[in-house]
Formats: sequence, structure tokens, C-alpha cells
Amino acid sequence: MNEPLYGTQNAHCTPLGPLSAPLHRATTVAQPDAETVRLLGTGQRKGEFYQRVGHPNCWQFESLAAAREGADGAVAFGSGMAAMSAAILAHVRAFDRVLIAQEIYGGTSAFALQDLVRFGVTVDRFSSLDLASLKTALNKPTALVVFESPINPTLRVADIDAIVALARAAKAKTIFDGTFAPPPIQRALDQGVDMVVHSATKFYGGHSDVLAGFVAGAHASLLPIEAFRRRTGGILAPDPAWLLLRSFATLDLRIAAAQSAAAEIALGLRAEVASGRLQTVIYPGAADHPDRALVLRQMGGGGTMLSFVVPGGLIGAKAVFNRFEVIARAPSLGSVESLASLPAYSTHAPLTPQQRNEAGIEDGLLRIAVGLEGAPRLLADIRHSLG
Ligand code: PLP
Repeated sequence: MNEPLYGTQNAHCTPLGPLSAPLHRATTVAQPDAETVRLLGTGQRKGEFYQRVGHPNCWQFESLAAAREGADGAVAFGSGMAAMSAAILAHVRAFDRVLIAQEIYGGTSAFALQDLVRFGVTVDRFSSLDLASLKTALNKPTALVVFESPINPTLRVADIDAIVALARAAKAKTIFDGTFAPPPIQRALDQGVDMVVHSATKFYGGHSDVLAGFVAGAHASLLPIEAFRRRTGGILAPDPAWLLLRSFATLDLRIAAAQSAAAEIALGLRAEVASGRLQTVIYPGAADHPDRALVLRQMGGGGTMLSFVVPGGLIGAKAVFNRFEVIARAPSLGSVESLASLPAYSTHAPLTPQQRNEAGIEDGLLRIAVGLEGAPRLLADIRHSLG
């Protein structure tokens, strides 16, 4: 039996000696004899051999990620998009049909609509907030259903249990992008999704210095992804893998601190809504969130992302955005730094104002990915920026 050539959660990586993992940069490793080369080359034995096939720092990160996600294993890549595209491509063939949620990361949509279709795969959309639309869409044979939650930037929450049940009944596999709320906030594999993808560039890296991604799930789902990675070469490199190992030690602490700051800021901004300086504050952990029941059922907290709508549409939002002094005007999330995004000018710029409105994204909406500066400093920055 071939051993999986990715990290599994049973692999033990407690350091004995140095308290940070040694960095293994070697691209190739000399072997004692022909038989060892045969076993390693055919994948019958797992071990250091050639870096594109696997290497210790990648396996160590995969093992930790798999354990956290509650998966058999994880397959790590050089970016979140490399992980997402590999997960999809490894599970479809020409003439298959894939359902992609309308409310999904723009890079995933672009890959599906511009690349996947070139290989004879049909891509159809559904709304992850409208189960009836998924039910109808699943009337035709479907290989994969791809969705995410919470949704960017409205922070609405999709019903993971219901989407999994509908997909299963139609014999479609599910791929869930869990980037916005990693465990312990959300554990989508426990809810039955087949594969979870993360942009590890976000929380898992956490310091704005690593680009990475991974897919976690059961061995049966991961084996074709690992084989695809070996053939196409998108494996996570040793240096970013090492940085991810460093980041792992503080992952829980970072998530907990940023989440409690986000909850405090959301609460604090109620006064700004009452005074009319803000139209709305959207935070999944808030009692008035439109998907409150789902949040309580499938999230272990409100997460670290919050959005708010300022009066004055795009002009108002730009003015507030430009005045931030602590919060950085930068894409991304899940970092030690708090980051602001103006969706009408960035992630959702390709949409017309009407399309944005239909998607619930008002032009005055700003999204904050809360970091570790502390709620008082961040609240003060937002209040000062409101002018
Ligand atoms: N999924 C989500 C939800 C994201 O926000 C991102 C990046 O912003 C990605 C996937 C892609 O990840 P990466 O930038 O690491 O390729």
C-alpha cells in the first residue's frame, strides 16, 4: 500500500531538542541504494526524496492543519488559490458540472468562469443564501458544490448543514472555503463537507508574511489532489511552511484576541449607529445579525471580521477609509494588523453599483479585518475616521 505523500494528523512532530522545527531546504536527498530509491520513487515509502513530491516542513504543517481541522490529512500549496483550483481540478473531468456559489471569493469565481470552462466543465451559479436555488440547480447531475461562509463582505452566513444535505442527496461532493473563520470558530468537516480549503495566507500565517493554502478532508478526497499537486508542482515551499509552523503556536491566541476585540468594537459602534454617524454595523456575533440562529448553530463565536455602512455612499466610505491611522488600507485578513477594505473599490469593483446593491453590498460599506491592536485603539481609530 502506498503511503499518503502528505501530512496526516497521526504524524508526530513534537520537537525533541530544538524548539523550533529545523528548516529543510534541500530539493533532493541522496539515498543509500537502488531499492530505497524504488520505494521512495514509487511512493511506496514516504520519506525525503524530491521536494516537489513532499518535504519535512510541508508534512509538519499539513499534520498540524489536519489535526486542527479534524481531517485525515491535509495537502498544502503555495497559495489559497493554488489549493482551491487543485481541489476542484482533481475532482472534475470534461462534461462534469460544477455549482459555484455566487457569494464566493472573487478569485474562485474567476478561476471557475475563465479557466474551468475551457476544459469542458460546465459552471453554474446558485445563491448559498437561497436553498431553493441550490435545490433547483441540483436537479441536473452535479459533480461539485463550492461555497463559503461567512460571506464577504456582507458577513451573511450560509447554512452548511442544509447545503451538505442537499449536495449529498444529489451525490455531489462539497468544497467549502473556510478561510474567514478557521477552527475553533467553524469546523465545516464535522458538519459533513467533503473538503475544506483555506487560504493559509490569512489566519494560519497570521503575520502578513506568508502566501499559502491547503485542502483538508478524508484520504479518499485528498489522494487525487496530492497526485495532481505532484504532477503540476504547486507544493508549499519549505520557507513559508516553516513560517506557518512558527505561526501555529499562536493561532488560538490570535483568533481569540481578535475575536473578542471584534465583538467589543461591534458593540461600541452601536453608539455611532444611534447618533447617525453609521448606518449599520454588521457582525456575525451580534444579537441582531440576520443569520443569528445559524451563527449560534455552526460558529463558535462571531469571528474577527466586521463591516459597517457609512452615510454618504461611496464618497462617505472613501473619506472614512482615507482617514484611518491605525487600521491599514490593505487587502487580506486574519493578520496581527487590522486591515480595512473598501469593497466597491477592490473586491467588488468589477460589479456595477446595481449588481453590488443586489448582492447586499452598499457603496458605503467598509470591511475591517480585526487584528491585535486592541479594541480601544481600533474603536478610537474608527471614531476619529468617521469625522
Ligand atoms: N479564499 C478566500 C475567502 C480569500 O479571502 C482568499 C484571498 O483573499 C483566497 C481564498 C485566496 O487565497 P490566496 O490569496 O492565499 O491565494
